[in-house]
Amino acid sequence: MTENGDSTTPRAHGRVTRRTLLKAAGATALTAGAVAATAPSAAAADMPYDAIVVGAGYAGGTVARELGARGMRVLVLEARGRIGGRIEPGTLAGQHVELGGGWFGPGQDLVARELKRYSLTTTEDVHATRMVMPGPNGYASHSPQEAGARLNSLFADFYAGSEQYFERPYEPLHRKDLLASVDRLSLADRIAQLKLSGVDHDWVSGATSVFAGGNKTGSLTGLAQWYQLAGGTYDKFLSVMSQLPEGGMISILERMLRESGATVSLNSPVTAIRERGGLTQVEVRGGRVYQAPVVVLATPVNMWSTLTFEPGLPKVYTDAAREGLGVPHATKLWLRVKGTSEAVSAQAPEGAPILLLIPQKQLPDGRIFVAFTGPALDVSDPQAVRAAVRGLLPEARVAEYRAKEWHKDPWARGGWGLRRPGQLLRQLPDIQQPFGRIVFAGGDIASGWNGAFVEGALESGFRAAEQAATLAG
Ligand SMILES: Cc1cc2nc3c(=O)[nH]c(=O)nc-3n(C[C@H](O)[C@H](O)[C@H](O)COP(=O)(O)OP(=O)(O)OC[C@H]3O[C@@H](n4cnc5c(N)ncnc54)[C@H](O)[C@@H]3O)c2cc1C
Repeated sequence: MTENGDSTTPRAHGRVTRRTLLKAAGATALTAGAVAATAPSAAAADMPYDAIVVGAGYAGGTVARELGARGMRVLVLEARGRIGGRIEPGTLAGQHVELGGGWFGPGQDLVARELKRYSLTTTEDVHATRMVMPGPNGYASHSPQEAGARLNSLFADFYAGSEQYFERPYEPLHRKDLLASVDRLSLADRIAQLKLSGVDHDWVSGATSVFAGGNKTGSLTGLAQWYQLAGGTYDKFLSVMSQLPEGGMISILERMLRESGATVSLNSPVTAIRERGGLTQVEVRGGRVYQAPVVVLATPVNMWSTLTFEPGLPKVYTDAAREGLGVPHATKLWLRVKGTSEAVSAQAPEGAPILLLIPQKQLPDGRIFVAFTGPALDVSDPQAVRAAVRGLLPEARVAEYRAKEWHKDPWARGGWGLRRPGQLLRQLPDIQQPFGRIVFAGGDIASGWNGAFVEGALESGFRAAEQAATLAG
């Protein structure tokens, strides 16, 4: 698949193509499908599509492919100048880096199935040979086995009972009766309940806050569900970050969109979705309107409040959008470090500038590391970044770095998803349902691996495709 400034994507259905239409819209389109035929007239009211998908991330890509496989003509409208959404490949020191999602792990069967479908191989990520963890007086070194055993034990207590309230982790509401007392708890509430000692507190609070973007906003049941999905131990949970797909995390999506035959129109931010006479009208910035029997909104939940809906969305959707699903702080920092090439991993307490540091590729004169930072670090300040790294690895010298602040990204407005306290019981089943002719998709609202996983985006995309096909008739 190549990005192509002026060409667009006709489907090979022997019907019309949309070349003129998209050029008229001033859109940059991505060639995903097959052969061009003749150009149609570009009247706003014409309806060359059976479905419109808003968002070319993994959820939108899954929907596009699945609807394409049913013979439906699909238009994908993407706000950015690239596909992938919260998957964003980049480079640092000539190395491929993932500025958004990068890993998958055992038990993520939908990703595994897609890798097989497209004959993509995987590699195992680097194993740490030493772990730097909070100690009574600053940081202390541990063997991975020693630190792993202690984390397993601490998190067995932290998630005690989750094997019951998430008896079936892919059906999170199966034990609704048990969830009422836990779903209202934030991670900070759970930490307070356990009355942990100093070092244990630091080990737990750092580990949860990095995944939650803050322990006050993240829900206990959000993380506990991931823990049970992974198999109910902390080391199994961490193994979710162990595998790297060939060609990077974007590689499956590129193939999905190519296979879909959909027209993918980049630089096409959707501003409004209106239902008119049994059809949906989708307006993009600049005023162009596309029309189809059904629209699939496959943006982050945090983006829903930026769109105009007519009729207006019911409260449960607007509540979810206002409260947010994408975590409020998500900065991924890639570092090229000199002075050490040791595969050290480090974890810090909540509030530290760098919360988690993970060793990546070894270089002739050092190593690449990836880090997740907290709000305490201003990543635009190189001195602060250097000092933060030295705080964990005194021998390390940062030669260069690259950061992506997802909570500042205009098309995400948050990082990976993690439910807020109470959202599971109040919102989840409802916001997975269509409203009129609008279907909702996205990793944020998956039943299983929700929020922080491509696996969940795929799951949600498959469900949304079924719903959209039914609505389109
Ligand atoms: C820092 C970080 C690390 C992560 N790590 C991992 C990991 O290691 N493994 C893993 O599996 N997952 C990881 N994730 C989560 C994973 O990236 C997401 O769960 C997944 O990509 C979500 O896919 P999606 O299609 O639901 O949403 P998105 O990828 O966000 O796609 C939504 C699309 O909608 C577009 N859009 C938004 N508004 C509009 C609009 N108005 N009009 C048109 N288009 C619009 C966006 O530009 C975007 O392309 C991580 C995420 C982040 C941010």
